[in-house]
Amino acid sequence: MSKPAIGFIGLGIMGKPMARNLMKAGYALTVHNRSRGAVEELVRDGAQDGRSPRGVAERSEIIITMLPDSPDVQQVVMAPGGVLEGIKPKSVLVDMSTISPIVTQDIARAVEAKDAEMLDAPVSGGEKGAVEATLSIMIGGRDDVVDRVRPIFEALGKNIVHIGGHGAGQVTKACNQIVVALTIQAVSEALALAAKAGVDAAKVRQALLGGFAQSRILDAHGQRMLDRNFKPGFKVRLHQKDLNIALSTAKTLAVPLPATAVVQEAFTALRGLGRGDLDHSALVTLIEDLAKVEVR
Ligand code: NAP
Repeated sequence: MSKPAIGFIGLGIMGKPMARNLMKAGYALTVHNRSRGAVEELVRDGAQDGRSPRGVAERSEIIITMLPDSPDVQQVVMAPGGVLEGIKPKSVLVDMSTISPIVTQDIARAVEAKDAEMLDAPVSGGEKGAVEATLSIMIGGRDDVVDRVRPIFEALGKNIVHIGGHGAGQVTKACNQIVVALTIQAVSEALALAAKAGVDAAKVRQALLGGFAQSRILDAHGQRMLDRNFKPGFKVRLHQKDLNIALSTAKTLAVPLPATAVVQEAFTALRGLGRGDLDHSALVTLIEDLAKVEVR
């Protein structure tokens, strides 16, 4: 069976390496992005320039979006010149951005009204996972549609889990972001305490990595904190957006998330300090400022 033509919209930190992996796997790609740099780079490597979301949809059977937030996906899909104007019957819109589960369900209804299909398929694993095609992919949508798109997911990630219906992938991603944010806060507090106590924070990290406190966050972000490497990665403002999604979903369902709310305010403070475009591991700098200490 020939490989479906793929469209890719949103070529940022995550989208560009994901698009490259699809080209490496032999898919013909049509791309679009707001700024032109990444489009020109991929066109030099053999992709087609879709010129607009509509242009991408007209040329593609599977259209992937990897955009920052819910309003961005709404605009790219629903606005004049958007995906809905060009999408063909039976085509699939696969939104891999992290957005609100409620907005996802609205978009799915609009796509289905065009006799096309939608999956929500947000990811975890960061820029490294995008580059190395080892992302964890959390999927909401219909079984038969997931089966059609599975070979494409396999070119992008390793842990591919179909969770449930429309929005279930986004709910899973909100759960993921709670665990990641609270763990970064815990690692920040632990290393700041070690530093202020005059104990070698690098050795504390090393010791904790061998015990029950071990985590990928302690490993990767603990090292970032020690190296003072806050180049994103995953930006503070995007993680704040994700905790907003978690908190507003939880409020609707009457589920209290007290610790999530605290870390959300810490991200707000970081943005107030002009650190919103740093990597989310820069959460440690807030504790450092409050404690007058630097983790090194
Ligand atoms: P990013 O670097 O900010 O990339 C977003 C891209 O979307 C940019 O290239 C941007 O273009 C483009 N864009 C924005 N609005 C657009 C529009 N209206 N039309 C066309 N293109 C548009 O963000 P990212 O880190 O790749 O994240 C993308 C999504 O993945 C987010 O939902 C994020 O939460 C999620 N995610 C990120 C990570 C991570 O580690 N970074 C991990 C997992 C999930 P410009 O060049 O013009 O800005």
